[in-house]
Amino acid sequence: MDFFNSRIHHWYAFFKRDLPWRNSRNPYFIWLSEIILQQTRIEQGLAYYLRFTHEFPTINELANASEDQVLKLWQGLGYYSRARNLFFTAKFIQKHHHGKFPEDYHSIRSLKGIGDYTAAAIASISFNLEYPAVDGNAFRVLSRFFGVPEPIDSNAGKKVFNELAKELIKGTNPGMHNQALMEFGALQCTPKNPDCLRCPLIENCFAFGSDKIGELPVKRNKTKQRDRYFSYLIFEFGNYTWLRQRKKNDIWKGLFEFPLIETTEETDADQILIHGEWHQITNCPYTTILSISNWKIHILSHQKIHFRFIQLGLSEEIGMSEELLRVNKEDILNFAVPKLLETFINEL
Ligand code: SF4
Repeated sequence: MDFFNSRIHHWYAFFKRDLPWRNSRNPYFIWLSEIILQQTRIEQGLAYYLRFTHEFPTINELANASEDQVLKLWQGLGYYSRARNLFFTAKFIQKHHHGKFPEDYHSIRSLKGIGDYTAAAIASISFNLEYPAVDGNAFRVLSRFFGVPEPIDSNAGKKVFNELAKELIKGTNPGMHNQALMEFGALQCTPKNPDCLRCPLIENCFAFGSDKIGELPVKRNKTKQRDRYFSYLIFEFGNYTWLRQRKKNDIWKGLFEFPLIETTEETDADQILIHGEWHQITNCPYTTILSISNWKIHILSHQKIHFRFIQLGLSEEIGMSEELLRVNKEDILNFAVPKLLETFINEL
């Protein structure tokens, strides 16, 4: 363990990337960076981090914003429940902790949107507490170097990795140690083509020594993707169109979109006009199809969204559902919308 730790720490001192949140122990900044970087590449997340800290330099300023403002700033980053939880938790901290981030692990862990990993990252980096933060990068390094054969997504595997990580963090600078391990996985021991020949761990690495790099870490379940088919309806009357806010517990909750009809497969536009949900959107009898786009695909981690746009002209502005919001086309970009709608809206 000493060999592993000293080599990783040494490597980190030389090769760590200079990132803005690494120059701070402010728990608000660490929390923000961790939430933004979940499922997001650093290159993409960095711009959002800078935008958020500029717009909301303190947790109270975030708490005083509106959810729509937060979602608008988050637009394009995906997994919008992260933004909603961020906002909820900022308000919660303002109300129940006088705007001050809690300083012990269990209080941090009890906050909405903060799981084991994020709580450990904040506790270790901001408050020097010995909690191991094991993300996908750290799992890979541990699994390869120590030769852990248990699947990282099984309960048995989680237990083994947790024990190992707890042993390793003892007596270290915990914030630095956690970041070193994750950075090493992100830059050196990468999923494909790890840079073994220039790796400071090579002489004792189980995976390298036994030619098992491609087999470790072991993952039990491959995520299944669900196909969904969205026909967006762009109603037009003069300079106006209609939007609605997604309310159900589903992807993009709280974001705005054109009304849509979801089907179980690619469907002709004629079928959409007689679909059961059509009359929940409009009862206007004066509707003509102006254009129909081709089907396109937008990939999310668990879902494959097949989508297309049907532009519809209204010759009378009647019968639109009360759930819809009439919007001047020039104002649409003031609303937070899912990424797949952005390009279309820019062309509208
Ligand atoms: S030798 Fe290769 S597999 Fe082993 S820790 Fe280093 S980079 Fe990863």
